[in-house]
Amino acid sequence: MTLERLRTTLAVLSLTAIDARLEALLESASKKEPAYADFLLEVMSAEADARRQRYLKTRLQLAHLPYVKTFDQFDFAFQPSIDERQIRELRTLRFVHEASNVILLGPPGVGKTHLAVALAEAAIQSGQAAYFMTTHDLVTDLGRAYREGRLDRRLRIYLAPKVLIIDEMGYLPLDELGATIFFQLVSARYERGSIILTSNKSYGEWGSIFGDPIIATAILDRLLHHSTTVNIRGESYRLKERRKAGLLPTPEAQHPEPIAAAPNNRSKRSHSA
Ligand code: ADP
Ligand code: MG
Repeated sequence: MTLERLRTTLAVLSLTAIDARLEALLESASKKEPAYADFLLEVMSAEADARRQRYLKTRLQLAHLPYVKTFDQFDFAFQPSIDERQIRELRTLRFVHEASNVILLGPPGVGKTHLAVALAEAAIQSGQAAYFMTTHDLVTDLGRAYREGRLDRRLRIYLAPKVLIIDEMGYLPLDELGATIFFQLVSARYERGSIILTSNKSYGEWGSIFGDPIIATAILDRLLHHSTTVNIRGESYRLKERRKAGLLPTPEAQHPEPIAAAPNNRSKRSHSA
């Protein structure tokens, strides 16, 4: 009788997680006989935890990540060019609170997207919103908005999340409109929200992505003013896996051209843009 009324009350209050675990909670309480307050805490925590999980799941879906991977799934031993101390610092998410940027550079397959996604996942776990786009999709979307006279409104979508991931900068060159729009986006987020950007091109090659060294310099200036560059020089993890599967011979590890260091990596805030 009491149990029935309890279930009805839980339903009225939408306490679905408590309802789902009700029997187990009551059974454990009758065995352990906890203090009233401890029992109440356990019951309320069941609901609070479930809600947090639901909230994080929604945030993760809204982030539009290509896949969910974490730092624990990243094999740092395979990529010794990565400075683990630098990664540890990034994992504190201080850069999110400072609205500074993270630029991951390196050849294909070395884990740039994996690390960008892992940072986004960590930011989401800490309660921040993140949004993932490839450069191509981003510029296509904003270009369409521009032609339809609603660029400002559309830009807001990319300004709202604390963390914006822009993946695969440099695989395709941008036309003049794309470069201008990209500049506008970077300027609008400058000192307001973090950008995590991945690119296979070194900074020196950015002129060729944007087709114009002046706009490339202006973009780099804002992007790098408060930023951390993670330079990954190493072998593709995808190749390693295929090699392990016997699909490729095992030649000497490739030695890709090292990518030039950032001109003003982690520069002081006093520098004026
Ligand atoms: P890219 O640098 O081209 O963005 P990705 O981050 O997409 O490369 O990595 C390619 C694949 O290899 C992904 O599935 C990623 O999870 C995996 N991967 C890359 N580097 C590592 C690593 N060091 N440890 C574990 N998995 C890795
Ligand atoms: Mg990638």
